[in-house]
Amino acid sequence: MPDVLAVDLGGTNIRVARVDEAGKILAHEKIPTPAAQGMGAVIADIAGLAQKLRAPDTLALGVGTPGVPDNETGVYRLAPCNLPCSHGFQFTAELKRLITLPVVADNDGNLAALGESWLGAGKNEHIVIIFTLGTGIGGGVVINGRVYHGHHNLVAEFGHVSIDYRGRLCNCGDRGCVETYASASALGRDAQEALRNDPAAKSSLLFKRCGGEAGIDKVDAHMVCDATRDGDPFATALLDRCCAWLACGISSVVNCFNPSCVILGGGMALAGDLITSRVNKCLDRNTRKYVPIWRDAKLVVAQLGDDAGILGAARMAWQHVEECCRTVK
Ligand SMILES: [Zn+2]
Repeated sequence: MPDVLAVDLGGTNIRVARVDEAGKILAHEKIPTPAAQGMGAVIADIAGLAQKLRAPDTLALGVGTPGVPDNETGVYRLAPCNLPCSHGFQFTAELKRLITLPVVADNDGNLAALGESWLGAGKNEHIVIIFTLGTGIGGGVVINGRVYHGHHNLVAEFGHVSIDYRGRLCNCGDRGCVETYASASALGRDAQEALRNDPAAKSSLLFKRCGGEAGIDKVDAHMVCDATRDGDPFATALLDRCCAWLACGISSVVNCFNPSCVILGGGMALAGDLITSRVNKCLDRNTRKYVPIWRDAKLVVAQLGDDAGILGAARMAWQHVEECCRTVK
């Protein structure tokens, strides 16, 4: 039976899987990313693992990578900040040379959206957008089963939708970007600041759980969610505020795309209903929701976990195979 190879390239690990046309993972392996040795070493390791997992009927290879590879040439338009020396690297051309298979690459956020729309929370949905809540906020848009790439694949930077033009300064240079308020990192930072400065903090469950003053630095979004779940009013207020900001960002994006499905992914979305119920509550007050656009849209949590990116890469490889067959015919 024919299959494809899918690669999830991260700053820490490289995962490679062989995947059939229905999305079943037939074999997979993970190795550390030799990021410090440069892109040549990274590509050589991907090719080596891909050769090992390749079968006689393997048809193509799809790669999900941080940063933004050009969707035509595969050269990085935006270099991944966790992979040094990658700017301008001939990513797909070099991999193609080493593995002698058709190779396609895309941004990992786009492919997480594609994976979820293929087999996860966005299955059978017409227009899917995903917000990935992690260190920052990433995103992806899938329209009729295809990633929407914009003009140069520089699309779906949902974390940089500004919700306050005079707000917090963001790494991108703008102010008030939603990721400076509603990413997992932002929630952790805000919690630490509140624990240090808010007099009410000292009697909170969150303060007790982190071990008091000495443990404030280790407080993160996960701890805030846990304390909220256990009824701590202090943590609850922090999460409520974070989700209100997130609702602002989501609402702005929904007004642009009119999606049928909005997926929340990334580590913070593992809190599930704790997040979606709060975001929905903010949206339902109608102050943040343009009702005609939201009428048929749903807000759901990602289902594929760590496999979303690799399944998205496999789906992209299968789409490439289909396109090649059509061209040959
Ligand atoms: Zn920004």
